Amino acid sequence: MKNYTILITLLLLLSTSQIKAEKPTIVATASMFADMAKNIVDDKMNVELLVPVGADPHTHKPTPGDAKMVVNADLILQNALGFEGWLGELIKHSGTQATVATITEGITPLMSDAYDSPDPHAWMDGRNGLKYIENIKNAVVALDPANKDFYEKNYNAYRIEIEEMDEYIVSEITKIPPTQRILITSHDAFKYYGKRYGVQLESTMGVSTDAEPTPQDVQNLIKVIKQSNVPSIFAETTINPKIMKQIAEDANIVLGGSLYADSIGLPGEDGDSYINMMTSNTDKIVAGLTGKIKESIATNQSSGGFGWATILIGLLLVGAMIFMFSKMNR
Ligand SMILES: [Zn+2]
Repeated sequence: MKNYTILITLLLLLSTSQIKAEKPTIVATASMFADMAKNIVDDKMNVELLVPVGADPHTHKPTPGDAKMVVNADLILQNALGFEGWLGELIKHSGTQATVATITEGITPLMSDAYDSPDPHAWMDGRNGLKYIENIKNAVVALDPANKDFYEKNYNAYRIEIEEMDEYIVSEITKIPPTQRILITSHDAFKYYGKRYGVQLESTMGVSTDAEPTPQDVQNLIKVIKQSNVPSIFAETTINPKIMKQIAEDANIVLGGSLYADSIGLPGEDGDSYINMMTSNTDKIVAGLTGKIKESIATNQSSGGFGWATILIGLLLVGAMIFMFSKMNR
């Protein structure tokens, strides 16, 4: 009897996993696109991710697990514009029958100065974000027309959230004095952001992240920092912050935190969705370029000094009291 119960439970478990597998599966190359897709499909489809959160999509090396994911996909979401140079091979070798949707369709790409190729980071402009989610929604509806109304409803609600995010960024950037609206980061991921929100850009690396900056690049950057008098520069969450830390030290300014460019954050981190990555980047940029970060570091340091002084005085007082008590007891 007990064995039967176990058998039935196992069968039930198997059948529910079968039902789950029957849901259409979307595979996104990068985490911000997976997040966008989840907002539209909710629980009606499985959304899987090729490049893990926090990893660098430019330099991703496909694994056997990736090939399996692509084979089982019904829909693959790609940015294109040279962002996922490894994806074509992966799709070809896997023999997948999935539809491949290019979610930057309809966006006029900016060109990279360094490489004479399109700049892939189009999602960094909120208005482009609207185009991304429209393309995703259309691909999803084509895959599952029976649930069109459900997807349209989610899409419309999400569209309003992204519009509000875009307005928020526009108004926040105006808090930075115009001459200090200069963003210095590791790689050239913020060109669309800069163009949309009126921030001038300088970066140590080109559009992709597979090249190390030359000493000449670093020297030029330090020159720009000195000339523009910016109070801080920024690292990125998917790139080792070592170089940016060094440059900040050499130029005697502060590192204004790590920005999200090619990945969202882990669940619970400040940039754990497309919308949160864009707003938390903006908050860090505004705090850094208005000098707020510098001030808070200075206050922390002085309060740290005060803390030690308090402890020392406290210890001296306690010592004096013990001394007095020992005298009195004699
Ligand atoms: Zn990038």
